[in-house]
Order: sequence, then C-alpha cells, then structure tokens
Amino acid sequence: MAFAAAVLTLFPDMFPGPLGLSLAGRALKEGVWSLAAHDIRAFASDRHRTVDDHPAGGGVGMVIKPDILAAAIDGTPHAGPRILMSPRGEPLTQALAADLAAGPGALIVCGRFEGVDERVIERRNLREISVGDYILSGGEPAALILLDAVVRLLPGVMGKLESAAEESFADGLLEHPHYTKPNIWEGAEIPAILLSGDHRAIAAWKRRQREELTRRRRPDLWARHESKKTP
Ligand code: SAH
Repeated sequence: MAFAAAVLTLFPDMFPGPLGLSLAGRALKEGVWSLAAHDIRAFASDRHRTVDDHPAGGGVGMVIKPDILAAAIDGTPHAGPRILMSPRGEPLTQALAADLAAGPGALIVCGRFEGVDERVIERRNLREISVGDYILSGGEPAALILLDAVVRLLPGVMGKLESAAEESFADGLLEHPHYTKPNIWEGAEIPAILLSGDHRAIAAWKRRQREELTRRRRPDLWARHESKKTP
C-alpha cells in the first residue's frame, strides 16, 4: 500500500510544491505515495468562510477555530497519525521520519496566524511536531519538510538502498566529507586515502571523520552516541 499523505491547510496551492519535482515528484507520479491537500476554508460554515477568531483573554493575532478545524479533520479521509506542525512540538528527527515512513500515511494540519485552538489538539489527538526552534509564518513549509524526510525513505524512492543507511543521523553521527573529480582543484587535493583503492582504510577514514565532525560540531549528538556505546 502506498503511503497516503493528507494535508489540511489554508493554502492548498503550496502543495505538492517542491515535492512535485525530483525524487519525491517521480515517486508521487509512480504512485509510491499520494498527496491530497484540502482547504480548511472549505469547511467553514458562514457566508464569509471564517476560519479564525480573536484569542480568548486578549492578545495579538488570530486563532484557528476549533469547530472548523475539527470539521476539516473529521471530513477528510486519512490513514496513520494525525499531526499538527507546531513550534512547540517534539523535534522532527530521522528516527521519527523513519517511524512515519513505516506506517500507512499521515494527516498533517498546517497552522497559520497564532496557531490553533488548544481543544482541537486534545480532542482530535493531534501529535505536535516541530521542524526547529524558529517561527515560520505557517505550517506549510514545515509539512513539506516532514513529508520530504518521510517520502525519501519509502521503498523504491531512493536509488541505492545504502545511501540512506550511510547518511548523517542514520547511526547518530554526522556524515563524513565528500569529494569528486577533479583530483586537484584550486590547488586543493582530494585526501590521498580516498584514491588509494584500500577499501578497509577508506572505511576507517570515513568513520574517523564522522566521529571527529560530530564531536566538534554537535556535542549533543556526540554525548548521546558515546552514552549508547558504553552502557
Ligand atoms: N504563536 C505561535 C507561532 C505561530 S506560527 C508560537 O509562538 O508558538 C503559525 C503556524 O506556523 C503554527 O501554527 C505552525 O503550524 C507553523 N509553524 C511555525 N513554526 C513552526 C516550526 N518551527 N515547526 C513546525 N511548525 C511551525
């Protein structure tokens, strides 16, 4: 069964967007996954198609109404978890993307304005996921990021199976540096070991580079990696 993504948004035209091109786009055309973007506004009940209202207790901005969003969720066929893109959600990780990719699909709600009424999150059991500690103007780019990370892990999307296994985060380490021809460019050479043909030495070099990079750039990842190694 193909992975079925349903998206609830005030801007359905933002989809598939970049996911209609390249790897994800080809997989979409081939039916490896499907994407249905639904306009939340279509579920508004009044003449003006109102989806938002002022925040209770005062404050700036507007909040997406619970009744309208719930109607959109209930009226949209979907499989898998119900997700709300949200800066206060659990951080998106490679492990979370792999989890979702192993499932039947997801319903992804994109917030706008100040966000959505808290009661829909509770009553419709929305799992909040964040793409990082910064604020976007809407959940759509975040949903595109989430889907991109998931779709490339679906069977048959990536060319070589091993390309996913070797990447950053696959085993908790960042990736080693890459080089390609020309062998000397602006006087800078490709590390000799990579041209040696000694596959064992090359694998050891890559491993050392990955450990070194992770230790220097991401002490948080390195600490987790080390703690797993020595129980
Ligand atoms: N007032 C909110 C931010 C609202 S931004 C706050 O301070 O937390 C509007 C919408 O953009 C959010 O409802 C959410 O759907 C989306 N969004 C913004 N930043 C995001 C992030 N880092 N990760 C995921 N979604 C995000």
